[in-house]
Amino acid sequence: MSPRRVEVAVVGGGAVGAATALALDQAGFAVALVEGLHPAPFDPDRVDARVYALSPASLALLARLGVRDALAALRASRYTRMQVWQDQPERGLGFDAGLIGERELGWIVEDAALRQVLWDALGRSRVDVRVPARVERFEPGANDVRIALDGGAPIRASLVVAADGADSPLRALAGLAVDPVPYGESGVVAHVRTTRSHESTAWQRFTPEGPLAFLPLADGRSSIVWSVRDALARELLRLPDDAFAARVGDAFQHRLGEVAVDGERLAVPLRLQLARRWVGPRIALAGDAAHAVHPLAGQGLNLGLLDVGALVATLVEAREGRADLGAPDTLRAYERWRQGDVAIAARAFDLIAGLFRSDVPGLTWLRATGLALVDRLTPVKREFAWHAAGFAGRVPPLCARLATP
Ligand SMILES: Cc1cc2nc3c(=O)[nH]c(=O)nc-3n(C[C@H](O)[C@H](O)[C@H](O)COP(=O)(O)OP(=O)(O)OC[C@H]3O[C@@H](n4cnc5c(N)ncnc54)[C@H](O)[C@@H]3O)c2cc1C
Repeated sequence: MSPRRVEVAVVGGGAVGAATALALDQAGFAVALVEGLHPAPFDPDRVDARVYALSPASLALLARLGVRDALAALRASRYTRMQVWQDQPERGLGFDAGLIGERELGWIVEDAALRQVLWDALGRSRVDVRVPARVERFEPGANDVRIALDGGAPIRASLVVAADGADSPLRALAGLAVDPVPYGESGVVAHVRTTRSHESTAWQRFTPEGPLAFLPLADGRSSIVWSVRDALARELLRLPDDAFAARVGDAFQHRLGEVAVDGERLAVPLRLQLARRWVGPRIALAGDAAHAVHPLAGQGLNLGLLDVGALVATLVEAREGRADLGAPDTLRAYERWRQGDVAIAARAFDLIAGLFRSDVPGLTWLRATGLALVDRLTPVKREFAWHAAGFAGRVPPLCARLATP
């Protein structure tokens, strides 16, 4: 079969890959997207167990891709406040969207909803979508790269983007190394009902077992993520619903009243994993293929969507300079833009997770005091909120703050 020639082939149709393909298509590039599985459609009757807290920068990107309004209609839940504490709620850290001049701090959205709106948009685009298909061979050459698939015609492109997740088979085919450090922890995920309103607030308590987040869902329930040692995660999954709910309620100090479990429970193993190089011959990594981070800050996908903005801006600039999209200089510019920032963020989440996990005497006091202190230092708090919003440092144009949010 003769290969199809495009400018960029994106492998992986999760949120990062689908957004990359759409953004490149909108920028006028010829694009192909290869995804192994048909995405599960949004289910109007069942809230997906996988939800994300999307930052204002991510929402700005989705607005520019023309999918944000459709996403709003699929049970997106806006949150305006964040509250973090350790033992005494009154000695915690809290801020609201007004601190950074926004109407909201972000949206809680379901994975299925996000994929649905992105894939609907792909269906309206010129992107050559190959699904289900997987890459079998990756053959970079002087002028282009050829990828052979397990079905359908091969693809030739100037550049291949690996957005195929933390276990990225394409990254392995291209020989790009990662340094995985398993946390020995899993994120226990469930939906719960509480007797008190979640108040459109993202809550997080640093419990002795690990960070426990309550994210507000549109139907009044909360989506919880409790990052705990693997053995405890297994134990929590085995508990009957009422016993699990009681454990979660106690750990959360009943901040939202009594807790009842509603729906499935799952545990996701956690790791810190950074790629040593983000680029290689005619390949660039994006999203979890480049970085898997601790979920305590809810930033994994938000970092991935900033990668999308940076990569697209780099390729637009290369095209304006008539440069080869897959040339080492082009790719290094993208790597320089994102690798350092992501490493700093990943290590900061790692440090915070470690600090709150440690039993060293004195640290309990220091942690509580630290949170209370930051709470009183408005400029520090604003800087923190600015980072969480995705607006710190060099922000790609696609992710920049919208004039009218
Ligand atoms: C418990 C938990 C909570 C989290 N909460 C948040 C949060 O609140 N906010 C946030 O920003 N992030 C959060 N994250 C992180 C977020 O889940 C990831 O960063 C995000 O899903 C990465 O998206 P991605 O598109 O890079 O990869 P993925 O979502 O893994 O998508 C990869 C895609 O590639 C496809 N694929 C894989 N192999 C192949 C192949 N060989 N060929 C073709 N296709 C292939 C897969 O089918 C998949 O569709 C959380 C993570 C965890 C574990």
